[in-house]
Parts: sequence; structure tokens; C-alpha cells
Amino acid sequence: MRTQEDFLNAAEAIVFDRDYRKKITDNIAKYDSAFQKGLHQYSNLELARERAAFIKWKVIENLDKYLIEFEASVVRRGGKVIWAHDVVTAQNEIEQIIKRTQAKTIVKSKTMVGEELQLNDFLRKKGLTVYETDLGEFIVDQAGEAPFHIVTPAMHKSRSDIAQLLNEKIGSSLDAEAEELSNDVRNELRDKFLHADIGITGANFLIADSGMVSITENEGNARLSFTFAKTHIVIAGIEKVIPTINDLDLFYPMLATYGTGQKITAYNTIVGPRNADDDEISGDFFVVLIDNGRSNLLAQGEQRQALGCIKCGACLNVCPVFKNIGGHTYGSVYTGPVGSVTTPHTNGIDEFKHLSFASPLCGKCTDVCPVKIDLHNHLVRNRRDIINAGTAKSGEKIMWFTWKKMMLSRNTLNKGNSVKNFMLKQFFKVSWGERRELPKLAEKSFNHLWRERFGQ
Ligand code: SF4
Repeated sequence: MRTQEDFLNAAEAIVFDRDYRKKITDNIAKYDSAFQKGLHQYSNLELARERAAFIKWKVIENLDKYLIEFEASVVRRGGKVIWAHDVVTAQNEIEQIIKRTQAKTIVKSKTMVGEELQLNDFLRKKGLTVYETDLGEFIVDQAGEAPFHIVTPAMHKSRSDIAQLLNEKIGSSLDAEAEELSNDVRNELRDKFLHADIGITGANFLIADSGMVSITENEGNARLSFTFAKTHIVIAGIEKVIPTINDLDLFYPMLATYGTGQKITAYNTIVGPRNADDDEISGDFFVVLIDNGRSNLLAQGEQRQALGCIKCGACLNVCPVFKNIGGHTYGSVYTGPVGSVTTPHTNGIDEFKHLSFASPLCGKCTDVCPVKIDLHNHLVRNRRDIINAGTAKSGEKIMWFTWKKMMLSRNTLNKGNSVKNFMLKQFFKVSWGERRELPKLAEKSFNHLWRERFGQ
């Protein structure tokens, strides 16, 4: 976990790294142009966003009902649902399944919930072999890093960074182009799919009325992860539920367009427990439903709207803070504007309250969100709640008390600018940083000038 000090130090270190900024700017520019093209598929984008926002709102406001319905549907089809209140419960439940099935090898597809559970570390410490099968996840896993971005985990790496890494790990050529590198990884993993005992995947949507799980991806690795393995474990946050399969006609293109600029993602799979007369779907089927602080967020009357996030990553891509400090600086699994709204509630106000202040409140995140989450205003609401909870440091309280007194005093405001510049420097010494020069206040205040001109 990061404290505010860790966060500021990490941000300071990365923000002046030109090489890093170039990689991020290039990668986000590619996303931007694909995204703008992708938007053309909508004849009425606003209507689609309103419908999506409404469905998500309805689900979050009735989450208890939809989750019970989902569980009943999974059980009816022969699967099992496990409720995990926190990380330890989820880890233990997954370990029990592994022990029961005597599994040794696991293939895993991209899942941010897996990051929450620190599942790779946990399973490897238990002596199990785990392969990340999504290309981006494979890369960051090999590098010993966390995903940088919720959609594109290796966004912070250039082609040559990846070639260098894969050269060391799997013998790729240093001159290999992107396609060659992904073929190398594919060849490395092909065999693993065939021999894995368990496939672990995330879920993009949990379909309440049918007990099925929808997974969207571009590489086909998630589908392969559960096709050959005898046991399929789905790990998903409780907020992933949607009412019916019909809702996917809206969410599939929306997630694809806002996530990567595609009209629709390449592979869209709907999977569930094996049906008695359906031999094509394999083995045991478990869904581990993770709370891990989501109930705390649900308890927030206003900010709970953020549980409707479909994890498209669009708000990260437009956020000036994310673009400057990058995903790793946040020290949380979910980053960017949405992570800054949710993490203080899910992971603890004390440790993560500073994230709510890591925003210029420009509102670009709110403008872009496909499910119309009021992100920048939720950040303000978080700030309000943090202040009301009395968690601000006493030095900060004194500072703002003094600031308010000064701003409400005409005499102080009309004082000479040397006093005001000195005070300004004291107030913003830390937050302004050492590398920027504070602007100097004008010699005379507006009130002074007005009086000189109009004499009143
Ligand atoms: S908050 Fe909205 S824009 Fe951000 S990741 Fe979630 S759905 Fe996408």
C-alpha cells in the first residue's frame, strides 16, 4: 500500500522522465485515433450511453436481487458460486478447489480481480505453476510488474523494451517486430493450454437470468484457458452482473469502442456450467464472487454509481494526471479517475484518500465515460467526505483556516504584494513542487485599481 508520501515521490520521479512520456503519448495517440473512428458506428451515441448508464444504475441499486438471481441460475445449471468477502477468503476458496482437483498447472487469462487477489503470487507460493496467457499480462508478469493500465497492461513499454524482455525470457529476436513477438508468446503458451488442470478467467459480465458468464477478448486466450482444462474458475467482482443476455447487444460494442476503438471485440464468449446434454463445455465450473470493499462503496449513496464501471479504460486515457504519472504510481489496482473515486472506499480512506485529490477536476473523464459515471464530481464528493470524516492533518486544517481568514479580509487582500507573495509561497511550498516557479501577484489588487479609477 502507498501512503501519500510514496505517491508524491513516485509521481515526482516519473513525471520528468521524457522517455516514459513519449511511450505513453504515442500509445494514447494510437488509442485516440482508433477511438474516434470507433465512435462513428453509433447513429445516436448519447442514447446508447443513456441506456447503458440506466442499466448499470438499475443493477447497482438492486445488486442484492441480481446477485441472488445470478447465483440461482448458475446453481440450476450445475455450477457453484462462492461468495468471498475479502482477499483471504477468495484465496482460500480457490486453494480448496485446487486441492480437491489435485491440480498442478493453471492457465490464467486477463483479470483485474486476479490483481486484487494477488493470485499469481499466492498460487506460486503454494508451489503451483501459473501461466498468464494474455499477451500484455504475459509481458508484465515476465517483467515482475503489475499491469500499468486496466485494458492495456503493457502500455508503458515500447516494442524494443518488449523485445529485450522476451529475448531474455523466451529467446525472441531483439529485432523482432510486434507480430513476431506475439507469435513467439503464442508458441510459448500453446502447449500450456493443452496440459493445464485449471483455467482461471475473469468476467466482463455476469448474466443474472441465465447464470452465464461473458468474456470479451482479442486474442482467444481466455477461451483457450477454459476449453481444455477440466476445471474453470471465474473470478469476478460483484458489480459485474447484468440482468439479461439481451443487454450485451449494447455493452459489447460499447466496451469495444471505448476500450480499444473497435466496433466489436474479436472474441466474445458466453460460458457457463456444463449442461447435461452439452458435451462441448468442459468440467467443473466455479464463480468466485468478490466483494473486497465493494460493499463499502455501495454504502456511499452518491459514489456507488462508480460500481457501474465497465472497465473500458477510457477515463484513464483522457486524464492529464494518469498521462503524466502513469498507472504504477497510484499504488492501487484500479487507477486513473475511476480508481481515484473507488479505491479510498474499497481499500481504506486513510491509505488512499490522497487519490481523490490527484485530479485537476477538468471533467474530461466524466465527458468520456460510456456509462456516464459522474467521475470528477465524485472526486469532489470524496474530498467532502474525507474532510467531514476529520481525517485531514492538523497542519492542513490550520493552513486552510488561515487561508480562509485571509481571503475573506479586504484589508489583507489589499496589502502589498510582497506580503502576499510570501504567504502564497508558504501555503503552496510543498504542493507546488521545487521545479515550478509560483506566479507573482500583481503590484496592486483589483480593488486598488478600481478605487484609483473610480474613486469609490
Ligand atoms: S469509469 Fe467509465 S470511462 Fe472509466 S473505465 Fe469505467 S466505464 Fe470506462
